[in-house]
Amino acid sequence: MKKETICIQGGYTPKNGESRMIPIIQSTTFKYDTSEDMGKLFDLEASGYFYTRLQNPTNDLVAAKIAELEGGTAAMLTSSGQAASFFSVFNLAGAGDHVVASSSIYGGTFNLFNVTMRRMGIEFTFVDPNCSDEELEAAFQENTKCVFGETIANPALVVLDIERFANAAHAHGVPLIIDNTFATPINCRPFEWGADIVIHSTTKYMDGHDASVGGCIVDSGKFDWMAHKDKFPGLTTPDESYHGITYAEKFGQGGAYITKATAQLMRDLGSIQAPMNAYLLNLGLESLHVRVQRHCENAQKVAEFLSQHEKVAWVTYPGLPSDKGYALAQKYMPDGTCGVISFGVKGGRAAAESFMKELKVAIIATHVADAHTCILHPANSTHRQLTDEELIACGVGPDLVRLSVGIENVDDIIDDLAQALDAI
Ligand SMILES: *Cc1c(COP(=O)(O)O)cnc(C)c1O
Repeated sequence: MKKETICIQGGYTPKNGESRMIPIIQSTTFKYDTSEDMGKLFDLEASGYFYTRLQNPTNDLVAAKIAELEGGTAAMLTSSGQAASFFSVFNLAGAGDHVVASSSIYGGTFNLFNVTMRRMGIEFTFVDPNCSDEELEAAFQENTKCVFGETIANPALVVLDIERFANAAHAHGVPLIIDNTFATPINCRPFEWGADIVIHSTTKYMDGHDASVGGCIVDSGKFDWMAHKDKFPGLTTPDESYHGITYAEKFGQGGAYITKATAQLMRDLGSIQAPMNAYLLNLGLESLHVRVQRHCENAQKVAEFLSQHEKVAWVTYPGLPSDKGYALAQKYMPDGTCGVISFGVKGGRAAAESFMKELKVAIIATHVADAHTCILHPANSTHRQLTDEELIACGVGPDLVRLSVGIENVDDIIDDLAQALDAI
């Protein structure tokens, strides 16, 4: 099936007389006739449900749809994108291990890696996504367990050369994990370019309606854990906390990674998505292909408008031919990139503030990538504690405005921006 059809029909095929929409199984527990039946589930001898912290049928149907969309072999939902990022790495790396990550990643992911996971004993080396081959090569260590990057970084909007990073990772016998939140599988399927694991903050375009926080992890099933047995003992040697199961042997290349993350990490850390939220996520997925296309069409027109406006100092949008990421975007996302644009208003912090006050269609919100057009001035909100010099040093200048273009009529969005720019 093509991705538009998978958005609607993937993951769930109702049988005769069953509900057309996925059922919401809002139940913590599942009943069994005998304790032998249940014992088989605990031994991972039979598949089935016993407790929603480990698995829930509603969540599994939605995860299966996302796995199909990405072209993967297995997937799981998590309570948030942050939980998905954490699990994706922690499933492979522990204290004493090392990870190579792109320096252009979501701020929350950067904190997770650079502060919280460092405290857990995992080391990170951050590399500029446009670094030289030598610099990339030099980032790897003996104990490197994976490479992490974002298809289009939030908020820097830097496009990652996925193929180059995949080749580097594979040359060192480790998988590439890609956060594909901004591109979505509608615009880019990282597995087709060599990525091994994909994660999402489903809170963004996938849900798409400001309705529910969630995350997802998808495995391509392409990484051969057994060929790198010593690097990944968690997958290739018996798990004593799970009756001595060796995940890579029992569940094969296509199932080992997600089964381990479910049976071990979800069991112990419990970052589950509520079945009701998974249902809402599925509603969002049904229109993902239509919405993403409109987000990109609208954002392209808005970016073109802004780049020609005399009061705008600069525009970053990978769909503009003048953009640094344009060539890579054309390669990886020929049908469109995302709906998020960043730009600078001439006159710096004060001009950006007065511009924001005048907006009526674009709402001020700490969020991106959903149906409603929204805007954020980091210098005045998320990065408020920093001086102008510090802001410039971290790549988020005092004049930077992040605009997430929604799916309203684009003329209304442009008129709104125009009147607010005129009022500066
Ligand atoms: C928002 C976001 C996250 C974190 O997701 P939450 O659902 O907010 O936990 C991770 N990566 C990217 C690219 C994001 O935009």
